[in-house]
Order: sequence, then C-alpha cells, then structure tokens
Amino acid sequence: MEKTDYDVVIIGGGPAGLAAGLFAARARLNVVLLERLMPGGQLATTDWIENYPGFPEGLSGPDLVMKMTEQAKRFNIPIESKEVQSMDLSGPIKKIGLDDGSITAKAVIIATGASPKKLGVPGEDQFYGKGVSFCGTCDAPFYRDLVVAAVGGGDTAVKRNEWGFIVTDQHCGTSIPGVFAAGDVRDTPLRQVVTAVGDGALAAVEAEHYIENMK
Ligand SMILES: Cc1cc2nc3c(=O)[nH]c(=O)nc-3n(C[C@H](O)[C@H](O)[C@H](O)COP(=O)(O)OP(=O)(O)OC[C@H]3O[C@@H](n4cnc5c(N)ncnc54)[C@H](O)[C@@H]3O)c2cc1C
Repeated sequence: MEKTDYDVVIIGGGPAGLAAGLFAARARLNVVLLERLMPGGQLATTDWIENYPGFPEGLSGPDLVMKMTEQAKRFNIPIESKEVQSMDLSGPIKKIGLDDGSITAKAVIIATGASPKKLGVPGEDQFYGKGVSFCGTCDAPFYRDLVVAAVGGGDTAVKRNEWGFIVTDQHCGTSIPGVFAAGDVRDTPLRQVVTAVGDGALAAVEAEHYIENMK
C-alpha cells in the first residue's frame, strides 16, 4: 500500500477527539488531531459540569478542557489549528483537504460534534449558560423546583439521519471502511461528555484494529 502521512487523522478537538487522540497515541499510532478553533469544543463554553465521573464537587467546562488537553500533551498528541475543508474517503487512502494543502491517512475519526439550534430571541446569547440552556439532560437538575419554559424537542421528535447525524454501527464504524465517527456528531441517544469520550476511545481502538488488518 502507498505510504500515508498518518495512520489516523482525528477531526475535532472536543472531548471525543481528545479521547480518541489519547487512545490512538497510547496504541503508538502515528496520529494528528485537527481542530479549527481551540481544543475543548462545546465543553469550553459550558459553565458547570456536575455529571462527569471523578469530580465529586463538579468543575467548570474550561477546567475540564484544560485537564483533557494537559493529558493529551503528556502523550505528545500533535494538535494542529486547522479546519478540514474537504475529504475524499473513497479509497483505502483517505485524503483530508485543508486550507493550506492536504494530508493522507489510513483511517479517519470524525469527531466534529454538534452545535445547538438557536431560536434567535433577545437575551439568548447574553444568558447562554446562565439560565438559557440547550440541553435538558445537562442542565435540568440546576433548575429543580423552578418554573422552566421548554422549546422544541429534538431529542425525541425525530430519529436523526434527517438531522445530519452520522449513522454508525456499535463500533463507531460508518458505512465507509476506515472511517469512524465519535461523539455528538454521530447518531446516538445521549450527547454528553461521558458518552463522547467513550466513543472517542472506541473509535481509536477500532481504527487501530482496522489498520492492523490492512497489513
Ligand atoms: C451549554 C452546554 C452545556 C452542556 N452541559 C453538559 C453537561 O453538564 N454535562 C455533559 O456531560 N455534557 C454537557 N454538554 C454536552 C457536551 O459538551 C457535549 O456532549 C460534548 O462536548 C460533545 O463532544 P464532541 O467532542 O463530540 O463534540 P464538540 O464538543 O462539539 O467538539 C467538536 C469539535 O470539532 C471541531 N470541528 C468541527 N468541525 C471541524 C472541522 N471541519 N475541522 C476541524 N475541527 C472541526 C469544533 O471546533 C469542536 O471543537 C453541554 C453542551 C452545551 C452546549
């Protein structure tokens, strides 16, 4: 097989991508993580997390991001500030198009997350994370015994292909061999940090098995 730049390219530096990077690096794969903004994803904008195991008092989203990125650095995972513009995933060599060229890999983990759909009403941005929430599972316990207005019901009202989420099998594998999806970007019943990191770990291990079987 033709030589590739990397074994695995991880797209997205949120919890899923950072966990995938950790597992890929510990498996001694030649990996790179591409993040268009700062590592952390949605977590970086989350005021307070109290449902992630290991932190009995809870902690702020940015603090958890800091801990995750410190751990990634300890394993020398290269995190590059680049936005993926295009992908050619059709053959065994995956081509990832960037602003300044392209790179190749044997496997790709897509961990590009999701963004909440906004209503566009006054105060929505101003009170984001301070009374305006986009995730009932995450924040409903903070509003216990208070009067709450709930708008929409995306979690229960649709399946999710129509919403653009990537359908995977139970191994985080997509319909394309060598391409895996992890975290909020995939069709999953729960979009939380704990599930995103689980997906990231699984996707990295499955990418490792896929590459081993190519040889
Ligand atoms: C307000 C709020 C509160 C929340 N509260 C909680 C909570 O209390 N507990 C909890 O467990 N979860 C909570 N969540 C959900 C949690 O943050 C997400 O489930 C988790 O961040 C998903 O991780 P991810 O890595 O899949 O995706 P994301 O965090 O969305 O990260 C995806 C990353 O991919 C990058 N990216 C996207 N496209 C590209 C591209 N083309 N090229 C390069 N990079 C790209 C993005 O910049 C982003 O950094 C909350 C979310 C929000 C918005």
